[in-house]
Amino acid sequence: MLQTIKRPDSPVSIIGAGIAGAWQALLFAQAGHAVTLHERGDEAMTEATSHWAGGMLAPYCEAEVAEPIISRLGLRSLDLWRRELPDTPFNGSLVVAHPRERNDFERFARMTEHHRRLDAAGLAALEPSLEGRFRDALFFPAEGHVEPRRVLPQLHERIKAAGGTIKFCSDVTANELDGIVIDCRGLGARDEQSELRGVKGEMILIETDEVQLARPVRLIHPRWPLYVIPRENGLFMLGATSIEAEDTGVSVRSALELLGAAYTVHPAFGEARIVEFGSGLRPAFPDNLPRIGIRDRKISVNGLYRHGFLIAPALAELTLAYVERGQIDNEVVQCA
Ligand SMILES: Cc1cc2nc3c(=O)[nH]c(=O)nc-3n(C[C@H](O)[C@H](O)[C@H](O)COP(=O)(O)OP(=O)(O)OC[C@H]3O[C@@H](n4cnc5c(N)ncnc54)[C@H](O)[C@@H]3O)c2cc1C
Repeated sequence: MLQTIKRPDSPVSIIGAGIAGAWQALLFAQAGHAVTLHERGDEAMTEATSHWAGGMLAPYCEAEVAEPIISRLGLRSLDLWRRELPDTPFNGSLVVAHPRERNDFERFARMTEHHRRLDAAGLAALEPSLEGRFRDALFFPAEGHVEPRRVLPQLHERIKAAGGTIKFCSDVTANELDGIVIDCRGLGARDEQSELRGVKGEMILIETDEVQLARPVRLIHPRWPLYVIPRENGLFMLGATSIEAEDTGVSVRSALELLGAAYTVHPAFGEARIVEFGSGLRPAFPDNLPRIGIRDRKISVNGLYRHGFLIAPALAELTLAYVERGQIDNEVVQCA
């Protein structure tokens, strides 16, 4: 570990103001470091994958397919979300299935923990709009969700309140910055991390006042975990596909699947207005696991794949623990 890493007065520059960089900047600024966060895009953050995300904080549901490290980082992150943004809704998430997906639903129940099985009446009590739609559901009461397009500016405000500086439209490289540099460029870091790849996730925003939901609803689907997430003002996000492709278009097939899934959750979605089609490229390493890479005074935090909102707070805490105390989490931190 170099001396520069240990010096508390060393400036800390973070590149990329997506969810990874925002949490790094926040925890470092709160710890008293002189933080500057550089973002090449503007405040709208449309260049960030984070802009397109669902924002589900679902460590238990994700355990169906993800490695245990994701649940560990996710559970710690839930505490940090609660601490920093106490308004974060932690009212759980639901998993439902149509009869033809019954086996997959039971498998999902077996592969995951910390859920309660609801019968149709229990589901209707929780989500009256879903009355009569499904014969049962899995309820994960401890899970939460955030709206990425609201929460990123909130985090940016908190960084400034903690004494950090944010420079938008600032396209920088680590070599031109002094002190400690934390590279959170997502897929933009491929010039230095050639093994990164983008995994396309398509989403659709729709609007209706015919359906009210208080929490994300996942629909068991043979190919992708499809979900409907309520946003404010009658908006719902439908997501998300997972495709090994790096174009950012939305295919007709994906649109049909996403809209079809919403329609089968509730037919009133058939009358909803389509507000937006979009997609983001999830930055992923070959093992689909996140990595904090240390090389001299440069630290890279990347590979958040489909879990950026779920795990970014815990990754920031681990980076800070390394910089301040030389602590290394062997599952995530790799020293060159
Ligand atoms: C459709 C979809 C749904 C998703 N749903 C969820 C979900 O429900 N829950 C969850 O936890 N995760 C979800 N994800 C995954 C999550 O969005 C990603 O893991 C996360 O956004 C990655 O964040 P990041 O900060 O690493 O990258 P990004 O968000 O891409 O941020 C990187 C930033 O770096 C900036 N940058 C790049 N180069 C430079 C440079 N040279 N100088 C300055 N700035 C630079 C970019 O402009 C960008 O803003 C979803 C993803 C998609 C696509």
